[in-house]
Amino acid sequence: KIECMPKFKSTQEILRIIGNKDQIRNFGVIAHVDHGKTTMSDSLLAASGIIAPSVAGQALALDSMKLEQNRQMTIRGANVTLLYENEGKDYVINMIDTPGHIDFTGRVTRALRAIDGVVVVSDSVEGIMTQTETVTRQALEERVRPVLYINKIDRLVKELRLDGPAMQKWLSNIIADFNRLVDLYAEPEYKEKWKVSIQGNSVAFGSAKDRWGFNFKMAQKLGVGFKDVYEAYTAEGTDKIKALAEKSPLHDAVLGMVVEHHPPPHVAQKYRIPKIWPGDLNSEIGQALLNCDEKGPAMMMVTTINVDPQAGRVATGRLYSGTIKDGDEIYLIDAKRPGKVQSVNIYMGNTREVVSVLPAGNIPALLGLDYAVSGESISTVKTATAFESIKYVSEPVVTIA
Ligand code: GDP
Repeated sequence: KIECMPKFKSTQEILRIIGNKDQIRNFGVIAHVDHGKTTMSDSLLAASGIIAPSVAGQALALDSMKLEQNRQMTIRGANVTLLYENEGKDYVINMIDTPGHIDFTGRVTRALRAIDGVVVVSDSVEGIMTQTETVTRQALEERVRPVLYINKIDRLVKELRLDGPAMQKWLSNIIADFNRLVDLYAEPEYKEKWKVSIQGNSVAFGSAKDRWGFNFKMAQKLGVGFKDVYEAYTAEGTDKIKALAEKSPLHDAVLGMVVEHHPPPHVAQKYRIPKIWPGDLNSEIGQALLNCDEKGPAMMMVTTINVDPQAGRVATGRLYSGTIKDGDEIYLIDAKRPGKVQSVNIYMGNTREVVSVLPAGNIPALLGLDYAVSGESISTVKTATAFESIKYVSEPVVTIA
């Protein structure tokens, strides 16, 4: 049964789940332009999002059209938090906005620092394109683990007229192309481990537009396959396509891979911190970062600044160590100035909710830091080493109306 209405969850429940780091995932979506990143992200939010208590009543009152617009808008924001149940276990999955293209302000790299895995979206007809290669390369160089989602499978039937076996052959070439990138750009110890495969459940296929998708495990469990896809798109009408979306929803295909292959924060930080943080690993902060230790000094990197008409500047990013709470006196390491956290928030679905305190491994949205820019390192230790030194240039700020 497809869930059209997101679940209602209390903030307490979300906080309880993230109390166990094994149940957290921080990931991003990267793609060549027009391959379907927005449509796929939106379908994840639509099907497995959560509605924050503050908008629960309001959401019910909104018609689906408005809900849809609301999603589209905030998918391009800072963070969307999804709640996903997999094999009887709840996961809080943060989908952090990753700009789709390379620009001169280094925003892609910054966003990549906050995540531990990426879903690479590729159009089934176009395959691996230049931007797919550039962003995948960057992810691999940052030790961010990829899984592959091949989108627009409907085009293989409707435009290329491929049947089941022909589709499979076509798609195996795309997978091989992708693995060539892993071979080329991953560091030696990850070259084999991070290659994707159908049997390894690290590749999914689907149509984001029609909201169906499957990975290997789902194909086995549900008995779906390329034959069904061929039949769905050669049949009269859309009934078979809708049935496929109900039986085999896209969000299960994608989030199933995320949960299985993207590491939780404390596992990822062990090998990522030495790569992304230039400080002394034996120092107190170094150890706290490596262990994602909520008892250590707080250290966070801002990935996105939003300007909210009510709340003002909202700095969202990854908290790598320590615990951050309302009223904390912190330092903006790059700006070399102190700041005070007015309020600690988290995203529930695409809505910001006040939580007042949040431990390492999560994605806080902080109010009150008027001088923070994206890329800024925030710490409770004035002398902490920044994640990167950033040049203070003016850059676009996302405004959420
Ligand atoms: P982005 O630039 O990667 O964010 O791509 P979008 O999500 O905006 O999608 C680009 C275009 O592809 C839009 O017109 C979508 O409607 C269309 N699209 C997305 N998913 C599919 C799909 O599964 N099949 C087909 N045929 N079109 C799709």
